Amino acid sequence: MRLSDLQLRLQDLDCKPCHIERLLRGWVQRRSYDRKSSPAATFFPAALRAALPAIEAELQGLARLKSAHPDTLTLSPREQELRRDSEVARLLVELHDGQLTESVLLPRGGLCISTQVGCAVGCVFCMSGRAGLVRQLDSAEIVAQVVLARSLRAVSKVVFMGMGEPAHNLDNVLEAIEVLGMLGNIAHKNLVLSTVGDLRVFERLPQQIVKPALALSLHSTDDALRAQLLPKAPRIPVAELVAQCEAYARATHYPTQYQWTLIEGVNDSDAELERLIALLTGKYAIMNFIPFNAVDGLPYRRPAPERLARIVGMLKQHGIVTQLRDSAGQEVEGACGQLRARAVQARDRTSS
Ligand code: SF4
Repeated sequence: MRLSDLQLRLQDLDCKPCHIERLLRGWVQRRSYDRKSSPAATFFPAALRAALPAIEAELQGLARLKSAHPDTLTLSPREQELRRDSEVARLLVELHDGQLTESVLLPRGGLCISTQVGCAVGCVFCMSGRAGLVRQLDSAEIVAQVVLARSLRAVSKVVFMGMGEPAHNLDNVLEAIEVLGMLGNIAHKNLVLSTVGDLRVFERLPQQIVKPALALSLHSTDDALRAQLLPKAPRIPVAELVAQCEAYARATHYPTQYQWTLIEGVNDSDAELERLIALLTGKYAIMNFIPFNAVDGLPYRRPAPERLARIVGMLKQHGIVTQLRDSAGQEVEGACGQLRARAVQARDRTSS
C-alpha cells in the first residue's frame, strides 16, 4: 500500500487533511485512541469511523515480526528493560504477502530499515544482493517497519541502510521519509538515506520538504575497483559522487556519512587510503569503516585488528572524522540479508 493511495482512500471517506494527518500520526507514533471515548471518536467523519477497524487491521498486517535475534522478547520485562537501548537486535519481518525483509534495532533509539526485498545492485560482499531484486516495498511497508520496531522499543533515528538500494525505489522512500519527518516525531537529520550513488537522489533530495541526511556507500576511490565491488551501481566517477554529496551536505548542514566495507587485500591498501584522505580532506564528512562481515560462500576476510586501528589512525591524523563500526547485528545472525536467506531456504526445504 502506498501512503499516497491511502490518503486518496481516506479522502473518499470524507476525510480532510486534518483527519488524515491525525490518523497517520496516531499510526506512526503508536498513539492509541479509544474509538468510543477519545476525541478521535467524534473528530473523525462518520464514514472513516465505520471503516476504521478495517483500515487499522490492514495497517497492522503490513509488517509482522517473524522472529527477533537475539530473541529478547522471551525475557522478563525487567531483563528487557535492562538490555533495552543498548542492544542490537535483528528483526525478520514478514510482509502482508508473505515476503520477508529485515530491520535492525540499534542502540540509542536507532533503527535500520529495508526499502526492497532483495536488491539489484549485487555488491559482491552483500547477501541481500545475491538473489537480485524480488520486489519493491511500498511506502506504507517502509513506515510499517518503524511502527513494528516501536512496539518493541522507542525509535528516534531511522537509517535507510537495510536490504535494498533506496534510489531504486525512490518515490516510495521519499513518501516514507516525508511521513516519518512530518508526523513520525523523528528529527529530519535523524533520517538517513543511504545510496550507492545515483543522480536521481542528488536531483530530488534538495527538493523535498523533509531533507534526510545522506550516506554514500563508497567502498573504494578507484572507479574500476568500485565497479567490480558494486557491479550494478551507476557508473559515476567517485570524484563526482563526492562533489554531489558535498553540495548536499553544505546545503542541509548535515555531514555526508561515507560507508566503506573494509576487505583485506581488496580495498585496505595504503595507496587506497591516501587517495581517500585526499578526497575527503576539508569535506563536511564522517567516514564510517565497516570491517567485512563473514558471509558463507564468500572468499573475503576483514583486515586484522592492528590494520583496522592503523587505517582509522591514518584518517584521523588528517582531521577526518572517522568511525570503525561493526555491521549492524553481525554478532547476532550475520550480515544484512542472511536472516532472510536462511528463512527462505528453510521454507523451500519444507515445501519441497
Ligand atoms: S550492500 Fe546495499 S546496495 Fe549493495 S547489494 Fe547489499 S543491499 Fe544492495
